[in-house]
Amino acid sequence: MSSPRDTVVVDGKALSQQIRGELAEEVRKLAEAGRRPPCLAVVLVGDNPASASYIKGKRRACARVGMQSVERDLPASAGEADVLALVDELNRDDSIDGILVQLPLPDGVSATAVARAVDPAKDVDGLHPMNSGRLLQGVPGLYPCTPMGIIEVLDRHEIPIEGAHAVVVGRSEIVGKPVSLLLLHRHATVTICHSRTRDLPGVCREADILVAAVGRARMIQPDWVKPGAAVIDVGVNEVDGKLVGDVDFDGVQGIAGLVTPPRGGVGPMTITMLLRNTLQAYREHTGA
Ligand code: NDP
Repeated sequence: MSSPRDTVVVDGKALSQQIRGELAEEVRKLAEAGRRPPCLAVVLVGDNPASASYIKGKRRACARVGMQSVERDLPASAGEADVLALVDELNRDDSIDGILVQLPLPDGVSATAVARAVDPAKDVDGLHPMNSGRLLQGVPGLYPCTPMGIIEVLDRHEIPIEGAHAVVVGRSEIVGKPVSLLLLHRHATVTICHSRTRDLPGVCREADILVAAVGRARMIQPDWVKPGAAVIDVGVNEVDGKLVGDVDFDGVQGIAGLVTPPRGGVGPMTITMLLRNTLQAYREHTGA
C-alpha cells in the first residue's frame, strides 16, 4: 500500500499577488511612457448584494494594479433594451478598453443577448461568440477568466498538462467548455462530464487533472480521486453559512497531489485573469 502523500494546497491569493505584481509593473511602464492607464467598465443591473460585492472587489483589484474602472448601474426594472443601449454606449466610448456586465441579470434580460452585444475587442469576460470561436480554433482572443486562471494554477505549480488525462466535470459556457478547450490545446486528453455521465466516480478516478465546476457541495468524494491527481475545485456553494467547494476538501488531503481550497483558490485567480484580459484588450485597442 502506498503511504499517504502530502497534498499541496494552492494559495490562489499568493499566486494572484504575484501575477498582479507583474501586471502592475506593466501598467507602471505604460504610465512612464506617457500613456493613459487601461480602463474597465463594469455594469451592474439591479441590486443583488452578491453582485455589488463582486463588482466592488473587481474595481478594487483594478485600482491596486493602477488600472482605471468605471461603474455604470441600472435599476432592477431595466429592460433588455436599456442594457443593450448602455453596452452600445460603452462599445463606442474610446476611453473604455474592457466591458464586464455582471451576471446574473434580472429576469427578462437575456445574458446571451448581452454577451453578443459587447464589442468582441472589449469582451474581457470572453463570452462573445467571436471569442468562443477563437478559443475553439485555438487562435488568440479574449478567453474566459476562470478557465485561464485554472491553467495558470497548473502551470505555476508545474503540473504537466501535455499527455495528461484531464477530466472536467461541468460543461457550462463560462467554465466547463472553455477550460476543456484550453486543456485540449495544451495536449491533454480531455473527458467532459455532466449530469448524464454514467459512472462519474469511475471517470473521475482516471483523472491526472480533475476540474470540478458543478455547483454541488462536496460532490467529489475522496475515493473519486486518483492518488497524486491535481484537483481544481471551481465550485462555490454555501452550506450552513460556510463556503464549500464541489470537492470534499478535507477528505482528499493525503490523496490528491494538489488541491485548490474553496476560499482563496480559484476565485482570486479569476479576478486576476480579468485584469490580464483588460490589459490585453487595452494593448490591442491602443496599440501600446
Ligand atoms: P452551471 O450551473 O452553468 O453548470 C454546472 C454543470 O454541472 C452543468 O454542466 C451540469 O450538467 C453539471 N452537473 C450538475 N449536476 C451534476 C451531477 N450530478 N453530475 C455531473 N455533472 C453535474 O455552473 P457554472 O459552470 O457556471 O459554475 C459551476 C460552479 O462554479 C458554481 O458553483 C459556480 O458558482 C462556480 N463558479 C466559480 C467561479 C470562481 O471564480 N470561483 C467562476 C464561475 C463559476 P448539465 O450540463 O448536464 O446540466
